[in-house]
Amino acid sequence: MSTDSLHVVCPHCHTTNRVARDALSQAPDCGRCHRPLFSGLPVALDEAGFERHVARSQLPVVVDFWAAWCGPCRAMAPQFEAAARELEPGMRLVKVNTEEAQALAARLQIRSIPTMALFVGGREVARQAGALGAADIVRWARSHQSA
Ligand SMILES: [Zn+2]
Repeated sequence: MSTDSLHVVCPHCHTTNRVARDALSQAPDCGRCHRPLFSGLPVALDEAGFERHVARSQLPVVVDFWAAWCGPCRAMAPQFEAAARELEPGMRLVKVNTEEAQALAARLQIRSIPTMALFVGGREVARQAGALGAADIVRWARSHQSA
C-alpha cells in the first residue's frame, strides 16, 4: 500500500486537502466542509479560485475558458461535463467565464473561445482552441498530463 499523498483543492470551499493517492478513487470528502472532493462535474471558478486551484492542486487541472454568448462554448459544455466524469479523480476539470475573469483571460492571452488549457504543477503544459467532443477532450488531456 502506497502512503503517497496529493494535495486536492476542494471544489466547494477551496481548502487544500491532503489525500492518499490510494484513497482518490474512494470518494474522499473535504476535511473542512465535509462535501465530496469529486462530484463528476466541472468546477466554475473566478480568477481567485482559478489561481488557488492551479497553484495548489497536485492533480492536473483542465480549464475550459468560455463565455455565455459563445455558441460553440455552450455546445461543448455537456461534452466537457462528460469528460469530467471520465477524468476525475485523476484530474480536476474547471470552467472559467472569460467575461467575468477578463484580466485573467487577458494575462493568459486567451484569444478565442472555447479554449482549453492544461495546468500541471502550476504550469500550463498544453492548450487547445476550439470545441471538442468528450472523447477527444479525454484523449487530449491524457496525452498531455505527464508533459
Ligand atoms: Zn471543502
